[in-house]
Amino acid sequence: MVTKIRKADQRRDVQRGGDNERLEERARQLSWRWLDGAAEPKSVRWVPAMRTRWASCTPEDGTIRVSTLLRAVPDYVLDYVLVHELVHLIVPGGHPPEFWEHVYRFPRTERAVGFLEAYSRMSTVNPDGNNEIGECRDGDRAVAAER
Ligand SMILES: [Zn+2]
Repeated sequence: MVTKIRKADQRRDVQRGGDNERLEERARQLSWRWLDGAAEPKSVRWVPAMRTRWASCTPEDGTIRVSTLLRAVPDYVLDYVLVHELVHLIVPGGHPPEFWEHVYRFPRTERAVGFLEAYSRMSTVNPDGNNEIGECRDGDRAVAAER
């Protein structure tokens, strides 16, 4: 089962182009569309699934890393994750109400969070189980909190 999903992921990578430049360009477009261009990431990169839960952001150097697990999700879910990380570049200090005010400018936020909640409970996606979505430690882990 896991192998099948990985193969499907690889096919999708090819279809999507799956490269960092496209991911970065997409993040910039999302920043302009939903955040008035206020978030200007220095780099946006795919990283191997084990290095971060869904995505992470380091505001100090403006870098965003997105787990390759998210290559398999619908576009609006990836867009939500990128918007979430971009907002970390605008609103420092975790997830205060102002943080979510920005994130909710992306209209499918709630739906995307629901998708990720379900997705993370699939054992093939999340061997650890038990993580919550919508929480992340500022700096190094995002969207889904560690246990
Ligand atoms: Zn976060």
